[in-house]
Amino acid sequence: MHPPANENGGPRATGNRRNEPNAHQTQVRAATVQTELPVRHPVAHVSLYAPHAGRRTWWFAYRCPHCSYGHRGELRQATDEETAEKAVIGVRRSRCGKRLWLVVARVYRGNEGMAA
Ligand SMILES: [Zn+2]
Repeated sequence: MHPPANENGGPRATGNRRNEPNAHQTQVRAATVQTELPVRHPVAHVSLYAPHAGRRTWWFAYRCPHCSYGHRGELRQATDEETAEKAVIGVRRSRCGKRLWLVVARVYRGNEGMAA
């Protein structure tokens, strides 16, 4: 029941345009995607790590299905768990040069009560 005058997305933009709650995770919209072919790339299960207090960079690590070694990366644009997940999910090129499909297997958020 939206008014039809709402052409450009309208007043929903509250600062972060990419924060659409309806966006399906199967829909790859990451900036690193270079092909739109419906190819199924090998899946890499990512562990996502929250930054320590005073730090702001989320990072992730996974075992590469191509080369069998570990790769890691940083998510410098991420500001919280939600943006970090959105930034990491999707098709990427790994350090060994192959494309893979990253999915978040677990998130290490830290425990604020333990941070001294
Ligand atoms: Zn690799």
